[in-house]
Amino acid sequence: MTEISEQYRIEQEPFYHPQGDEIALYQAAYQARMPVMIKGPTGCGKSRFIEHMAWRLKRPLITVACNEDMTASDLVGRYLLDADGTRWLDGPLTVAARIGAICYLDEVVEARQDTTVVIHPLTDHRRTLPLDKKGEVVAAHPDFQLVISYNPGYQSLMKDLKQSTKQRFSALDFDYAPESVEAEIICRETGIDADTASKLVKIGHAARNLKGHGLDEGISTRLLVYGAQLIGQGVEPIAACRMALVRPITDDGDIRATLDHAIDSLF
Ligand code: ADP
Repeated sequence: MTEISEQYRIEQEPFYHPQGDEIALYQAAYQARMPVMIKGPTGCGKSRFIEHMAWRLKRPLITVACNEDMTASDLVGRYLLDADGTRWLDGPLTVAARIGAICYLDEVVEARQDTTVVIHPLTDHRRTLPLDKKGEVVAAHPDFQLVISYNPGYQSLMKDLKQSTKQRFSALDFDYAPESVEAEIICRETGIDADTASKLVKIGHAARNLKGHGLDEGISTRLLVYGAQLIGQGVEPIAACRMALVRPITDDGDIRATLDHAIDSLF
């Protein structure tokens, strides 16, 4: 068990720039082993925050990227057939419950509802995980905590968490950092100069204003970091911005032209 646990430990501090009192609030939730939902748009620092908190709290972190094809077995485990017969293999959620890790289910809304309900008994006073196929009930390690991320922008009637799931979590709202902080993050992450970072952030903000007016999502901090990385590799800034900031997010000719124009006028 300790060997498995070591595998998921975060040795070096992941850089995280706080935006408010989220570190203290999360710490309090962890002390109560309360399930937490991290809400915010894509690429705004949710996963980085959890990595940072797992490092701070000295807990192993197991992250699962959820998708619509994911079944409950992908989370809890399954029997495998090998030369010696059948063998049970714990899924990531079961491993986390056994070793006392923080289990981070990224974009949980992507998973089907019959998959999501397997987390319910872990989120209340029971703190157990029934492995129906194996006939075992795992009692969660005292240090285990469940965290999920949720992008409110994607939610639709078809795809949303049920209230009975939502109301098992406390929640923290995340958003893209204010301009000066976001520029600082980009400098720290990529080593780019402050002037270039602030230009990238300006393009990011321009795009975020187009959200709902032709764009589903603005340019994320992650993409701004990509832009800075390309520039750091010697790519000419205008080409770097088109490749990292504009081309991934839209195929609409008018919106591309608007964003390209903003880039041309800055660089
Ligand atoms: P998501 O919200 O989709 O989980 P991530 O946590 O992966 O997004 O953030 C994407 C990238 O943005 C990170 O890899 C990091 O480079 C950068 N980032 C965003 N916010 C922060 C922050 N507050 N501190 C440090 N890096 C950040």
